[in-house]
Amino acid sequence: MKLYSTNNHDLNVDFPTAVFNSMPLDKGLYMPVEIPQLEAEFIQHLDEYSMPQIAFHVASALLGDTIPAADLKSIIDDAINFEAPIVPLKDHEYVLELFHGPSLAFKDFGARFMSRIMAYFLKDNEKTLDVLVATSGDTGGAVALGFLGVPNTRVTILYPKGKVSDIQELQLCTNGQNIHAIEVDGTFDDCQALVKQAFADAELNEKLRLTSANSINISRLIPQTFYYFNAYAQLLKAGKKDVVFVVPSGNFGNIAAGLLAYKMGLPVKQFIAATNVNDTVPRFLETGIYETRPSVQTYANAMDVGAPSNWVRIMDLFNNDKAALQQVLQSYVYTDEQTLVGMNHLYEDLNYIACPHTAIAWLALQDYRKSHPHEDFEGVFLSTAHACKFPDVFPEAIKAKIEIPEQVRSLAAKQKHATEMDAAFDSFKKYLNQY
Ligand SMILES: *Cc1c(COP(=O)(O)O)cnc(C)c1O
Repeated sequence: MKLYSTNNHDLNVDFPTAVFNSMPLDKGLYMPVEIPQLEAEFIQHLDEYSMPQIAFHVASALLGDTIPAADLKSIIDDAINFEAPIVPLKDHEYVLELFHGPSLAFKDFGARFMSRIMAYFLKDNEKTLDVLVATSGDTGGAVALGFLGVPNTRVTILYPKGKVSDIQELQLCTNGQNIHAIEVDGTFDDCQALVKQAFADAELNEKLRLTSANSINISRLIPQTFYYFNAYAQLLKAGKKDVVFVVPSGNFGNIAAGLLAYKMGLPVKQFIAATNVNDTVPRFLETGIYETRPSVQTYANAMDVGAPSNWVRIMDLFNNDKAALQQVLQSYVYTDEQTLVGMNHLYEDLNYIACPHTAIAWLALQDYRKSHPHEDFEGVFLSTAHACKFPDVFPEAIKAKIEIPEQVRSLAAKQKHATEMDAAFDSFKKYLNQY
């Protein structure tokens, strides 16, 4: 597999380089030079394959001979060891549940695959790999649990103080071993800026072997394509196709993976990006003007992103042709009030408790259906996290009904360890220099 930079298509690096650098020096993002086309035969018979088989087929197509088949197979089997079921809620409407991994969010797919890929490429006696990651809530837990105990790695997680839920914070701060948490007095964008600045700092790069675990890392994007193929396989099994995927979006990594799957040949009728009021992309699709803004705090805090880092990847997939992209991608925006209404509706009408991000995706599916009354399609909205990660957003009556999985119940007894820090780069640099 060869990769270029979205800022320089002449660049040509191999997969391990892209994984460990995370971002090219020109500050673009790595993208595959070639988007492999999966055989029509495979796509038409997807229903005959299991999730691990689908994942292996898709990953091999992308990675080529980068990793020997037997090794790739065991990486996938180890990383993707949980289900991604589509659950029918009513006729032509399904929820794709992506929260059955250890941190109860879809980010487990990316984080677990990435940690195992990195461990695979690390050679003995090399400098410790320092993984820096900014999180608005869910990335941190997935990365912490993905890397916990992985030899020769150390993870430093930055999260915005007071802006993640109690469970999210426990998942970040109770691990010990090779996992360090920093509680930043600032926003997610501040955290992300600190990480980016660290990567650009020559002195730090001299001293430490830095890599990123944010959704910009190409090894996180790849495993996120798996569940789009697998969801389609499950629809085929039920004799359905013509799928519309609705993706609750923040940094736009999840939906970038869906669009990559589409470019590889997955037949998808329409993608819908559903956002909270951090609406940089919906505004762009409407006006043609791409203007980032500081992030605004919402109930769907994992999508509180004013400058979505993966957007350039999506534009690159469509050769920066906005009109072509809009054939496949639409977007909808929801306020906190609307999100609450959606969560209530889902519970009362469909007996389904969805986290706020998921509820936003469901709302977008309803609005898309209303504006396309004569279209037949299977609406699949992605559930990106378990509701228990966001208890305070729910009305008491629903909150009381949320089932708490065992891995969360055991966190409550653990001790929190985090370093408090302001949002100045000097403070962060000083911290890293003490490693
Ligand atoms: C990260 C996250 C999102 C947003 O995903 P992106 O890939 O950043 O667009 C949505 N919902 C939840 C629960 C998340 O953790």
